[in-house]
Amino acid sequence: MSDAIKSYDDHNIFAKMIQGDIPCHKVYEDDMTLAFMDIMPQAQGHVLVIPKQQAVDLSQLEPEYASAVLMTAKKVMAAQRKVLEREGIIQMQLNGAQAGQTVFHYHVHLIPSSIHELGRHGSQPADQAELAELATQLKAAIEQ
Ligand code: AMP
Repeated sequence: MSDAIKSYDDHNIFAKMIQGDIPCHKVYEDDMTLAFMDIMPQAQGHVLVIPKQQAVDLSQLEPEYASAVLMTAKKVMAAQRKVLEREGIIQMQLNGAQAGQTVFHYHVHLIPSSIHELGRHGSQPADQAELAELATQLKAAIEQ
């Protein structure tokens, strides 16, 4: 399989979320980043953090957005620890289809799980009401 870096497609699903064209269970947003519940979580409380920059992968991410994504990830992780009452959070990020990347807008996964338990991509959509409730709790924990 070829793993050449794709050019950015601004119709990808995360670009549409940033533009407000499709809904998400928002956990946090600022000028440079957006964090929301993963719709097919690999564990309860799985959150994605994305930059508001057109980047397919790490190689295309501008330094100020890399910094902003990590700052948001820190906020989200602190909220996950509080809300889910667990210390262990996996930070994961896939670069390229060969690595398993499926959405070609750079994103960091924050997964309340363990490397010993983490399986493949989630295959079942989560319950929407549960995602909404978790998003509300995480958002409130960030705002505290
Ligand atoms: P990756 O394989 O690293 O590209 O991860 C893409 C992630 O995006 C997967 O965990 C999907 O479950 C998640 N995902 C895809 N579509 C949506 C969506 N509409 N809302 C939230 N998460 C999504």
